Amino acid sequence: MDDCLFCKIANGEIASEFLYEDDEFVAFSDINPIAPIHILIIPKTHIASADDIDEKNSYLIGKIFTIASQLAKDMGLKKGYRIVNNCKEDGGQSVDHIHFHLLGGRQMLWPPG
Ligand code: IMP
Repeated sequence: MDDCLFCKIANGEIASEFLYEDDEFVAFSDINPIAPIHILIIPKTHIASADDIDEKNSYLIGKIFTIASQLAKDMGLKKGYRIVNNCKEDGGQSVDHIHFHLLGGRQMLWPPG
């Protein structure tokens, strides 16, 4: 997608420090963190939202949780963390390229509001 912010970050068009990268994913710090650790994990391929997960791309979701677990270990989040996906307008999604928030370093509240 030519005008997708996260595609541009993933392909290096917008410079960003990656905390994780492999053939299919990158992870980088959120520009507006809401927790001491706030990392976004995204697939390099453009998928607009969780609502666009299908039989062909659903394997990516399992990998995201594996990456999150690895990052949490790297960041020393021994007491736990939260993984969040906001899906489309009512879900609070503001960037239309699927991403998972890895939040940690403080006690999370529930319900989140
Ligand atoms: P959403 O609201 O779930 O779609 O989350 C989008 C997230 O992307 C927000 O937490 C933003 O702070 C974050 N964000 C927006 N632009 C950038 C950027 O250029 N670099 C890193 N994070 C960004």
